[in-house]
Amino acid sequence: MRKNYLLTPGPTPLPPEVCEAMARPIIHHRTPQFQAIIKEATQGLQYVFQTKGDVFILASSGTGAMEAAVVNLLSPGDTAITIQGGKFGERWTEICKKYGINTEVIDVKWGEGVSASEIEKRLKANPAAKAVFTTLCETSTGVVNDIAAIGSVLKATNAALVVDAISGLGAIDLKTDAWNCDVVVSGSQKGLMLPPGLGFISVSQKAWKLVESSRSPKYYFDLKAAKKALDKTDTPFTPAITLIIALCEALKMIKEDGLENTFIRHKKMADATRAAVKALGLELFAPTAASDVVTAVNLPAGIDGEKLVKTMRDTYGVTIAGGQAELKGKVIRIAHMGFIEEFDIIAGISCLEKVLHQMGYKFSLGQGIKAAQESLL
Ligand SMILES: *Cc1c(COP(=O)(O)O)cnc(C)c1O
Repeated sequence: MRKNYLLTPGPTPLPPEVCEAMARPIIHHRTPQFQAIIKEATQGLQYVFQTKGDVFILASSGTGAMEAAVVNLLSPGDTAITIQGGKFGERWTEICKKYGINTEVIDVKWGEGVSASEIEKRLKANPAAKAVFTTLCETSTGVVNDIAAIGSVLKATNAALVVDAISGLGAIDLKTDAWNCDVVVSGSQKGLMLPPGLGFISVSQKAWKLVESSRSPKYYFDLKAAKKALDKTDTPFTPAITLIIALCEALKMIKEDGLENTFIRHKKMADATRAAVKALGLELFAPTAASDVVTAVNLPAGIDGEKLVKTMRDTYGVTIAGGQAELKGKVIRIAHMGFIEEFDIIAGISCLEKVLHQMGYKFSLGQGIKAAQESLL
């Protein structure tokens, strides 16, 4: 017998209300009953995205929504600026290149946020750039980017701002309209407390102009078709009915708490996690731009990160994430996103302490938990 604790940056734990919704009998999607659900889900997403613009629900993981952004906004031969600084920023570059986009890369040091003035400089040097692709929370490093500052740079330009908010939406603030974000993409299995399987994409008026002129090939992810259907409260293809019904439950929970309180809760969990790891003598990987979504922690020399993660998971049932790519084995990532409360953090930290202790790392047991408890008082 073993209880499982999920502290990974996607998927995240499911609230019982969401699980219950998914156990209901299936209904047909071309019905007034499902139309009411589409309406509720779309309005709920507009609340979470903080937009009055269009938001579409795709049957895909978050990366499908990223691909949808590229193929709907751009045409082969167009120029775009992509911001790297981790695995997910690199994904924008990879998708753009597949579709023949001339990609200008801003390479940010892993663990740091991008500077808005660097983007301004790059835009001046590349006035033909039609879009800037960036990331709200770079999940591979735990960094949060200053989207408000980037948005104010892009406001005065013709370029559209495209934000990967797959791991930040519903956890930390992202004001799609007020911060001039033209396209925001997200996914279901992170802050929104659902299983994987849904992608989301918002489209501003400025972005629709690009959509009108885009010549990239697309069929499944054609946003003009999605718009035509949504105007009739419909979808072009069979939607992921069960997941969308569950989405309504999750959105209801977020609305009941209120977005502001949801952000405050995430900050509290992040503060407690950061206090705990620092009290254990560990360092944050991204001390100057740490997100309230996921905390990346440097491991001391001699501690094998892969073994640490494996032991926590396989021996004790507590799943955190290890490092990706160049950070493999060197960092751990503890997510505090979605349906996570203070005693999930306490459980996660106490398991981390136990395994670090077993691996020979020197500290006094309870040091991290004490700091987390004090932070949460
Ligand atoms: C998880 C994640 C993705 C990938 O999403 P999938 O749902 O796995 O396709 C992309 N970007 C960021 C920032 C993420 O956290």
